[in-house]
Amino acid sequence: MPIGFHLDMELRQLVAWLEKMPQAVMVVDDRGYVVAVNPMFLHSILRDREEVEGKPFAQFVAIPNEAVEFIHHANDTCVWYRQIHGSVIAKDGSYFPTDVQMVRGWDGQRRYHLLFFNRIIRQVEPQLLQRFADHLISDIHLGIVLVDEHGILMEINRAACDLFGVQRDKLIHQPLDKLMAHVLPAQEQHVLENALTGITTRNVATTWKIGDKQVHLLVDAHTLRDEAGHILGAYMVLKDMTSLRLLEEQIKRNDRLATIGQIAAGTAHEIRNPLTSIKGFLQVIKYALKEKGHVKEQGYTEIMLREINRINSLVSEFLLLSKPRNIKLRPLQVTDIWNEMLPIVENEAILHNMEVNFVTERSVFPLIVADSELLKQVFLNLCKNAIEAMGEGGMLTVRIRLEEAEQKLAIDVQDTGPGIPSYALDKIFDPFFTTKENGTGLGLPVCQKIIHEIGGMIRVSSKEWGTVFTVLMPYID
Ligand code: ADP
Ligand code: MG
Repeated sequence: MPIGFHLDMELRQLVAWLEKMPQAVMVVDDRGYVVAVNPMFLHSILRDREEVEGKPFAQFVAIPNEAVEFIHHANDTCVWYRQIHGSVIAKDGSYFPTDVQMVRGWDGQRRYHLLFFNRIIRQVEPQLLQRFADHLISDIHLGIVLVDEHGILMEINRAACDLFGVQRDKLIHQPLDKLMAHVLPAQEQHVLENALTGITTRNVATTWKIGDKQVHLLVDAHTLRDEAGHILGAYMVLKDMTSLRLLEEQIKRNDRLATIGQIAAGTAHEIRNPLTSIKGFLQVIKYALKEKGHVKEQGYTEIMLREINRINSLVSEFLLLSKPRNIKLRPLQVTDIWNEMLPIVENEAILHNMEVNFVTERSVFPLIVADSELLKQVFLNLCKNAIEAMGEGGMLTVRIRLEEAEQKLAIDVQDTGPGIPSYALDKIFDPFFTTKENGTGLGLPVCQKIIHEIGGMIRVSSKEWGTVFTVLMPYID
């Protein structure tokens, strides 16, 4: 609420009066320069008077823009008083939050402003620290166990409960033995007891058997003492390395897979060569049958030839994907790529009772510049993920369209699978992030890299009804 008063006081008089105020105060002229400050203000920002007076006030006080306007439009006299949140800026550059009251004054010739700073907060508030500690303990992905000097459990966080498979309220304020009873005897089991005698443990790698699961851990245990050095208690930090171990194994397995892939690529060649001769001879037989008038048998050969073509194209694709190649960027029509790929995708979909719906919003699209084989790899990966997400049945929709507003060509790969849970959404492009037992977690990061390299991007939207991956690529006008 604006207060309708203004100070009718000469500046000289005012400054003398401010000297003794217990509150930090600054006087600013209508151009925003500091006219005067009082000792309390200087004390709050750890500066000398000469450093401040005559300088633009914004060097020492940070307030919202609208409040700065208030100072610069001093002639707009309908408001005389403002209260806002701001900060004072100390000599070392730290910002200390404060409430600022701004009052307009008039010394007979020009306007000035009085800035009163209330409650300058110079340290982290204890409440903030307390909340931070609480959140840290409950949210962090590290198991934390705190005991007092008698070994009574004073705190155990969620991650530790999960690791031990226990409930917090059953164990809190109970002796530590009750918790450790869940661990089969192991070497570093006594780290916390040791910490109570002053022995610190740091980053010790160990394997515990908790219940019937084996966990790989990094364990820390620290002693807590009061100022006089008396032991108050101890805490233990447990870092679960089990998934990292699994990852290591997975990488080893992927290496093996890569080797298998190379062998398979070699084999694919060996399949294609005999196929070519079978195809040639079949064509000969087909004409022979035709001449002899065996219409039915001729029909069979046609079916055989069609199937051979299909095998041929599958093998070719397989070869393209497994071979490392030189990247060839050239203008291309995205629908051509899809026409070549669709047989593979459809084949895979049929195996899982899925329908494939291919929609192009126009017959000709502007060209894009890309490496066609790498693009195929992107689309195949997206389709593969979609098919894996749906499992059995469902509809895979591929839509090619223009996003004119963004000047991009868009390809949607949409499934009717279970969707991606929100916790996973920001991780799916991380290398090695996978929710599949036999996944590699490399599909999406590779896709993203390929698309970024041609100046495009990949967007995802996911709900319970399924997921849409959209590839956006710049096109040639
Ligand atoms: P991988 O397929 O080997 O797991 P990706 O990088 O291809 O690796 O995918 C990473 C993760 O993203 C998958 O494990 C899965 O959890 C999630 N994901 C990807 N595509 C889909 C989709 N269409 N529907 C649901 N989840 C998906
Ligand atoms: Mg994948």
